[in-house]
Amino acid sequence: MKIIESHLPSQGVTKPLEAMMFNNHESIIYHYDENTGLKAIVAIHNTVLGPALGGVRMWNYANEEDALIDVLRLSRGMTYKSAVAGLDLGGGKAVLIGEPNQLKNEAYLRKYGQFVESLQGIYTTAPDMNTNIDDMVHIAKETKYVVGLPATHKGSGDTSILTAYGTYMSIKAAAKQVYGNDSLAGKKIGIQGLGKVGALLVEYLSKEGAQMYVTDVIADRMATIARAYKVQVIQDPEAFYDLDMDIYAPCALGATINDQTISRLKCKAIVGAANNQLADEHKHGRMLLEKGIVYAPDFLVNAGGVINVHTEYYGGYNEALAYQQVENIYATCLEILQISAQTNQPSQEVAMQLAEQRIQAIKNARLL
Ligand code: NAD
Repeated sequence: MKIIESHLPSQGVTKPLEAMMFNNHESIIYHYDENTGLKAIVAIHNTVLGPALGGVRMWNYANEEDALIDVLRLSRGMTYKSAVAGLDLGGGKAVLIGEPNQLKNEAYLRKYGQFVESLQGIYTTAPDMNTNIDDMVHIAKETKYVVGLPATHKGSGDTSILTAYGTYMSIKAAAKQVYGNDSLAGKKIGIQGLGKVGALLVEYLSKEGAQMYVTDVIADRMATIARAYKVQVIQDPEAFYDLDMDIYAPCALGATINDQTISRLKCKAIVGAANNQLADEHKHGRMLLEKGIVYAPDFLVNAGGVINVHTEYYGGYNEALAYQQVENIYATCLEILQISAQTNQPSQEVAMQLAEQRIQAIKNARLL
């Protein structure tokens, strides 16, 4: 695999074969159905460690090229996430092109399920943006290659629970790296985004006696959290970056670590569940390192979700095993942060190298 230095292809993605060669993807599969309006693309990045597994995202993409860029980027991300989390899964992802409110219904989802089934297990689908666990129930009527089903359907249920737990484990690992011990008592921690993950994280941090700042763009969510926990609400989400905090936990959207925010941040560590936190993976990872801010790689921090469905894939949901695997995030995170400090290399790149080394070792073992 050649990855570290490669960015996303910005040109030539209308030629799928060239796009695949750019980041060494294995396959791109398109599907169209006139009756339901289904337009789907599945990208398989790497299947050395196991079958490709990743969520299906529905979005009204401006054009087909944007959808292709997204599915290539996301599937590659799944390869690294599963590999660094120690899972026996490859990286894949699907995108559905269209407006969810207009198109998504049972027939549409079942048609998508038939498409997934036709791939005979090289790709297993799961919930992602604009698809949820109830949608998986319809998809499961047509294919066995689906995870993230509700507990009532023998699935692993809501992934946010373990995502939040993995984020909490990572915060403790980062604290250990920065302060020499992982107690969060009295630490000033800023939680940006009080959705499914952020709200659960507040609960963990509250039990540890952390001093919390919270923000969201939805006032009700801040009020609900403020009623239940001892937190300081920051009403203006933009002012959040200027806070005097020890640890910043991005749990809302991606690209919040960028040219504008890095100069404002005063924290010692950044650890959060949001995907793709670094606006530019290489440049901003390096800027954080130079500023002395410890950064826990997002795709490791938020691997709890895929760990949750991993056990569902292999023989049925096993809660105890899932929790155990999420707890391993602590040791992996600490190892990555230590290597990053010793080698003066951005932690995101260290994490990607560890993932690649694992993939390469398994590949070599198979070829023997
Ligand atoms: P969510 O949609 O439930 O919550 C996100 C919250 O962020 C919402 O309350 C929203 O109002 C808030 N928000 C949006 N813009 C904001 C801003 N500018 N400032 C402050 N708050 C803002 O999502 P979630 O499931 O809690 O996931 C949180 C993040 O973690 C997302 O980036 C998601 O992609 C990522 N993630 C989640 C999971 C999971 O299992 N849920 C797994 C992996 C990654």
